[in-house]
Amino acid sequence: RYGYHETMGAKVISIVNNKGGVAKTTTCSNLGRALHLEGYKVLMCDLDQQGNLSQTYGIDAPEDELYQSLSFAINAPLHNCIMEIFEGLDICPSSIALGQAALDLQNNQLTGYKRMAKVLEQVKNEYDFILIDCPPSLDILTGTALVASDSVILPVQPEEHAVKGLRNVFNLIEQMKDLNSRIQVDGILYTLVNPNTTLHKSYMEAIKEGMPHVRSFEAMIRRSISIPEATATHQSIFDYDKNSNGSKDYKAFAQELLGKVKKKKDKKEKVANG
Ligand code: ADP
Ligand code: MG
Repeated sequence: RYGYHETMGAKVISIVNNKGGVAKTTTCSNLGRALHLEGYKVLMCDLDQQGNLSQTYGIDAPEDELYQSLSFAINAPLHNCIMEIFEGLDICPSSIALGQAALDLQNNQLTGYKRMAKVLEQVKNEYDFILIDCPPSLDILTGTALVASDSVILPVQPEEHAVKGLRNVFNLIEQMKDLNSRIQVDGILYTLVNPNTTLHKSYMEAIKEGMPHVRSFEAMIRRSISIPEATATHQSIFDYDKNSNGSKDYKAFAQELLGKVKKKKDKKEKVANG
């Protein structure tokens, strides 16, 4: 039996931002592989009908995909829609057909918002982490991901309107708390960073000041060409070039994230051991 929670199975983490192009998908694919390389059993779910996460791992027209399980009418077992990338690293792919499932969920709002949680229940005891790559919108798909999640990672590119966009994300998280009170924000991950520019530094400071109650991860992901190169070859950054800045950055991020998770676990063990 797997999972961080002794009674609830895998920790479910959504990667969310309604802005496109902020490295949600890149973060999902590389965090997934980083956690897997740390020895965890990981499922990555593609919840974007653009299917970029699936394409990252070379899956273009999946035969079985997430919408078949999400759809009330088809209601396929989730196991049927899961593919293995490496032993211990699985993906549930998607394509444009996911749009149909979104409509289906939209037409049954209350059960729609709870649908992803219901579907993931089928596999929660088989993984340590389930990562959900959300679409660039705050629609019912992101909503249903939030209801299914223990926590949220917010990839943010340091730029002019970042704080404004983040407020909309936080509003949706607040709304979803009626259906899922356990959801937490792990933090903001700065992506596509040019670390030596004063402009990026000042934007990151502005975001921290504008969102004082939200943690910003110390690890940040520098802009580097090896990241799109890795995607073009359908691999994670670790498999493409393990000495690249991208590998170093995503590894540091995964470890910072795990540090937090581990601390929680230690606490639990201490309590258990008296
Ligand atoms: P999102 O899922 O938020 O829309 P993606 O992960 O698809 O964003 O990233 C958008 C684009 O930026 C992609 O072409 C991706 O390869 C590129 N990209 C992401 N992270 C980096 C980085 N650190 N350095 C350079 N390019 C990056
Ligand atoms: Mg994406």
